[in-house]
Amino acid sequence: MKRTEIKDALQSENFEQEMNVKGWVRTKRSSKNVAFVALNDGSTIHNLQLVIDLDKIPETDLALMHTGASVSANGFLVSSAGSGQRVELSVSSIQLLGEANPDEYPLQPKKHSLEFLREKAHLRFRTNTFGAITRIRHAMIFAIHKFFNDKGYYNIHTPIITSSDAEGAGEMFQVTTLDLEKLPMNEENKIDFKQDFFGKASNLTVSGQLEAELAALALSKVYTFGPTFRAENSNTSRHLAEFWMIEPEVAFFDINDDMDLAEEMLKYLIQYALENCSDDLTFLSKRLEEEEKNKKADEKSMELISKLNFVLENSFERISYTEAVDILKNSNHNKKGKFQYPIEKWGADLQSEHERYLVEKHFKKPVILTNYPKEIKAFYMKQNEDGTTVRAMDVLFPGIGEIIGGSQREENYSKLLNRMEEMHIPVESMWWYLETRKFGSVPHAGFGLGFERLMLFVTGMGNIRDVIPFPRTPLNCEF
Ligand code: ATP
Ligand code: MN
Repeated sequence: MKRTEIKDALQSENFEQEMNVKGWVRTKRSSKNVAFVALNDGSTIHNLQLVIDLDKIPETDLALMHTGASVSANGFLVSSAGSGQRVELSVSSIQLLGEANPDEYPLQPKKHSLEFLREKAHLRFRTNTFGAITRIRHAMIFAIHKFFNDKGYYNIHTPIITSSDAEGAGEMFQVTTLDLEKLPMNEENKIDFKQDFFGKASNLTVSGQLEAELAALALSKVYTFGPTFRAENSNTSRHLAEFWMIEPEVAFFDINDDMDLAEEMLKYLIQYALENCSDDLTFLSKRLEEEEKNKKADEKSMELISKLNFVLENSFERISYTEAVDILKNSNHNKKGKFQYPIEKWGADLQSEHERYLVEKHFKKPVILTNYPKEIKAFYMKQNEDGTTVRAMDVLFPGIGEIIGGSQREENYSKLLNRMEEMHIPVESMWWYLETRKFGSVPHAGFGLGFERLMLFVTGMGNIRDVIPFPRTPLNCEF
């Protein structure tokens, strides 16, 4: 018999034909003459209740069907008398596929902490929470490609191994095939990377932007969506060493077009989640409420689905870095010394606490900050007339801080070259990037959206390690 997925079975009106379902046991309970098994196959957050008549199927056949075991069951769909489900399966035969010894199987039908589940990342997919997150993650990946495809963007694969450092900020993982026990040295007694695989030092990419720019200056509208690696030793709930980034790059766009695209895209993705992931979002919303039960009223976050709708319904506040610093500097929060990093003067890099203050306390909605001091931003950002700021834009979200970082790019050859020299960017190895400013240069802009930061927002989860299946963070590369 062909397997029916539980998602379809739960919506089926077919009460006449026998059907087959397969999945993993979530719970089992027996009374004198019936047993109930809650079965889940990942197609939906909901379980199908199997009703097993112990007169027909002896308890001994069920004995090994503990939480975590896999089973195949045939039976007829019937209207459910119990509350909580429309239909259930009246089982005519059931077979154990793989057992899960309850003395060893780590997931029991009780609440496990997220920390505990991180150590069981090979099994945590089987919990309601991670099932929901995984399905939403898929929906968001699909929606991102759909958004760009519908607008006529081309997806391009930018390299994962690279010899350039897009941000000029270090923090890269080195890629090498050199024997670390016997490193070859050159005349200057430095490591001789000429003998390395690529004939020079290479790294894992920190951004696909520079290469995306090359494509945008021919195809006009492109985006990359790839893995990104940063060896930053920041053990926060918002940083991973390996994460995924969406980077559109668009010719003939200025900074305002860039902000419009960012806002439109975030709203599109949130709308998509609301329309396509409602069961999983409802579950995660209840989970969050449960989690926050013991928090004080003013520390509680907004209910998840209301929060998503709230972002859809409000336009993002767009202000300059300078205005933001004024707000922060004059805030009671700052005056009372409540920031870990007090804001004293213009030019300071904003920390997540400042970004969140602007979003959560001051404007109470997403904020886009523009025109940052050039000293705290990358070399490729377009320089403003004032000589001190660049046309950068960061999108700040509640609970997260920076979710998008982007800019209009400097398209003027000599201005770009000067800035690169000022910032000690190795100009010779970036010859190909500079050439695009020599041949048919045009204004263009783009941004990077951290996929897991988006996932944090959409799922309401608090730690970035819980929205990617296998998180890589300092000292953690298991699985
Ligand atoms: P932050 O200041 O939060 O560390 P950043 O300024 O270094 O971020 P960008 O270089 O602008 O980040 O990268 C673009 C986007 O990628 C960010 O807006 C963020 O959403 C995401 N991002 C950056 N670093 C990480 C990381 N280590 N883990 C997960 N996402 C990240
Ligand atoms: Mn940034």
